[in-house]
Amino acid sequence: MINFNFKNLRILSFSAHPDDEIGGAGGLLLQAKKGGSVLKLVLCLDPAEPRLDKSPTQERITRLREFQKVVELLDCESSYLGMERYPVINMENILPLVKEIRKFRPDIVITLSDEDYHPDHRAVAMLVKEAIWRAGRNAFPKYGQPFKAKTLIQYEADKPMSNIDFLRDISDVMQEKKKLLGLYDSQVNRKDLISAAEGLNRFRGIMYKAGDYAEAFKITEFFYG
Ligand SMILES: [Zn+2]
Repeated sequence: MINFNFKNLRILSFSAHPDDEIGGAGGLLLQAKKGGSVLKLVLCLDPAEPRLDKSPTQERITRLREFQKVVELLDCESSYLGMERYPVINMENILPLVKEIRKFRPDIVITLSDEDYHPDHRAVAMLVKEAIWRAGRNAFPKYGQPFKAKTLIQYEADKPMSNIDFLRDISDVMQEKKKLLGLYDSQVNRKDLISAAEGLNRFRGIMYKAGDYAEAFKITEFFYG
């Protein structure tokens, strides 16, 4: 178990879709906030998508509104990058993330796992890794002063991770995490994401003796020459 000293820790989250960050790391984010960390949630992709019951524009409006409610309840900063779905890994998509990292100057960056099923999740994970490395380089002056972020934490979403580095007991905030996930009405009504997250967190807690409920993470330390 890694015990963070959350006081004044700066945590920058990059998600593909509204709800990723709470499903995978809502417990950690809630504990960090209570412990005195400064959080920022960056939503990378445009959530517009043609649905059977909604136009793409309606879907975008609904999901951005839900994201905003979560930001308000978590009382944190936020950004919306509005990138197209299924982003390719190129400089055009990496540089907006470089700008966010350089502006916020995080101690910890948090994002999705790159072994996930959803191609958007894998793409954002790759973009974040590229952006962390590039943010530290003495280049791209238009995107801010270089900043060397040291720690990346990845969480699980559509697919439980096969190799995890640490677990965090989130039992004390499980009810609040469910409440935050519930703010993503449009998604929760399509699929019971609250029970899915609760079940996975319960499995992690019981099987690995990490408390009643636990979130699983992968951690990568970045070294710069
Ligand atoms: Zn997602």
